[in-house]
Amino acid sequence: MSTLERNAQHVRERIARACDICGRDPSEVTLLAVGKTFPADAVRDAHAAGLRSFGENYVQEAVAKIDALTDLAPAPEWHLIGPLQSNKTRIVAESFDWVQSVDRLKIAQRLSEQRPPGRAPLQVCLQVNTSGEASKSGVSPADLPALARAVAVLPGLRLRGLMAVPEPVADPVQARAVHRRLRVLFEALRADGLALDTLSMGMSADLEAAIAEGSTMVRVGSALFGARAAPQAATG
Ligand SMILES: *Cc1c(COP(=O)(O)O)cnc(C)c1O
Repeated sequence: MSTLERNAQHVRERIARACDICGRDPSEVTLLAVGKTFPADAVRDAHAAGLRSFGENYVQEAVAKIDALTDLAPAPEWHLIGPLQSNKTRIVAESFDWVQSVDRLKIAQRLSEQRPPGRAPLQVCLQVNTSGEASKSGVSPADLPALARAVAVLPGLRLRGLMAVPEPVADPVQARAVHRRLRVLFEALRADGLALDTLSMGMSADLEAAIAEGSTMVRVGSALFGARAAPQAATG
C-alpha cells in the first residue's frame, strides 16, 4: 500500500467515524485533496488512491499541474481554494471546475464572463470571513446576503455554497463554534431561497468538528500528502 493510500484510508476512517457520531452518512462529505506545494506526481498518486477532487491555492502552480495531469481518467475535478486577483480570472475560468474563494462581486462577474461557452458553469462557493479582524480574505457576514444574491444570477457561474478558512483553534468545543457560524449563515441563505448544497469547512486538524457542524466538503492537505515546506510568499 502506498503512503498516500494509507493516508487516504486513515482520513476516510476519520470522516466515517465523525459521521457515525453525529448520525450522518459519510457519502454526504466530499474529501477534497489539497495538493498545494506538492508536485503533480503526488496528485497522481492521490488519484491512484481513489481521490477525485483536488484543491489548489496558487493559480500558476495549479495550472501547471492541471496541464501535467490531463491524461488522468476519470478526470479530476479541480477546485481553486486560494485568493484570486482579477488579473488571473481568465486562466481560472478556463482551467478550473470550482472556485471556492470568491469574495467580491467584481471577481465573480469576471469569472462568469470569462467562462468558456460550451463548458459547464463554473461551480462557486463564497468565502466568508468568520474570524473577523484576524483574517483578511472573505466577505463579511454582513455583506454576504447581497453578494450571494448577486452571484446567484450570473450566467457563467453556479453558486453552490460557502467556504471558510477560520483561524486555527486548538479547543474542539471552540472549533465547533467557529464552524457553526458558517453553518448558520448557510442555513439563512437557504431559508431565503438560494439553492445551496455545499458547506466547505474543515481541514486536517479540525475535520471532525466541521463534520459535526454540517460540513459537506472537507479540504485536507497535510493529513494526505504530509507536512508542507514553509508557505510560499506568492498568493496568486
Ligand atoms: C492548505 C489549505 C487547506 C488544507 O490544510 P491542511 O491543514 O494541510 O489540511 C485547506 N483549505 C485551504 C483554503 C488551504 O489553504
